[in-house]
Amino acid sequence: MLSKLTTLFMIFFLGVIHIGALAAFIYFFDVKLLLMTILLWQFFALIGISVCFHREITHRSFKSIYPIKIFHLTCALIAGQAGPIMWAQVHRIHHKHSDKENDPHSPIKGFWRSHFGWIFEQGKRKQLKDFQSVPKDLAEDKTLRFFQAVHFPFFFLLFALLFFIGGWKWLLWFGCVRVTLTLNSSWMINSLGHVWGYQNYEGRDFSTNNKFVALLTGGEGFHNNHHRKPNSSNMAHMKGEFDLGFQYIRLLRKLGLITDVIE
Ligand SMILES: [Zn+2]
Ligand SMILES: [Zn+2]
Repeated sequence: MLSKLTTLFMIFFLGVIHIGALAAFIYFFDVKLLLMTILLWQFFALIGISVCFHREITHRSFKSIYPIKIFHLTCALIAGQAGPIMWAQVHRIHHKHSDKENDPHSPIKGFWRSHFGWIFEQGKRKQLKDFQSVPKDLAEDKTLRFFQAVHFPFFFLLFALLFFIGGWKWLLWFGCVRVTLTLNSSWMINSLGHVWGYQNYEGRDFSTNNKFVALLTGGEGFHNNHHRKPNSSNMAHMKGEFDLGFQYIRLLRKLGLITDVIE
C-alpha cells in the first residue's frame, strides 16, 4: 500500500516538475533566464550529482575535507535527485548487476523504463535482496543520514524560496526547468549510456561512451570507461575524451581540499 502511494506521489511530483518546465517555455520565455538556468543546471549537476553522489559517495573515488563534503552534498540537494544514501545504493546495485535481471534500470527491459520508468518500481525493488539492507559505509555515515533525511523538505523550501524571491518566473525556470534538465541528463546515462555510442571495453555489459551525453553531464557520458573502472575518478580514458568532473577533482586535489584520489 505504502509503495503504491509512493509511486503515485512520484508520478505526480515528476509530472508537476515537467509540466512546470513546459509552462516556463510557453508562458515566461526569456533568453537570459534560459542561459542562467543552463549555467545553474550544469554547476549543481556537475558538483552535486557527478562529483559528489556518483564519484565521492557511491564509488569512494576520493575523500573531501569536511567543509567540502558539506558543500558537495548541499549542491546535490539543490540539484534535486533524491538523497545520497538511496542514490548510492541504487547505483551500486546497477554496477553489481549491469544489464542483467536485477539491474534497477537496464534498457534490456525497455528504453523508457531505463530512462525513468524504473523510478516507479519501488515496490518491486524492495523485494530484492540487494535493497533489504543499506551498505554499512553509507548507513554509518551520520552526515549522509542527515542529508538523506532532509532532502525532500530541503527541496520544497528551495522551491518556496525561489517563488518568494522571483515569483513564477524564478520558480519555473530555476526550479522546474533546471531540475527537469538535471533529471533527464542523468537519466540519459541509464538509457542512452547503455544503447548509443562506442565501447573502448567490450563484453561485460552494454554500457557505451557518448561524447554528446558526456558534454551534457560533465564527463559522465564516458559510461563504458566508467563501467570498466568504477572506482576511478577519471572517466576519460582515451585521447579525445574530456571529463570536466575529473578536472574539477584535479583542481581540488591541487588546492589540498581532497585526498585519496583514485585514478
Ligand atoms: Zn551503467
Ligand atoms: Zn558508477
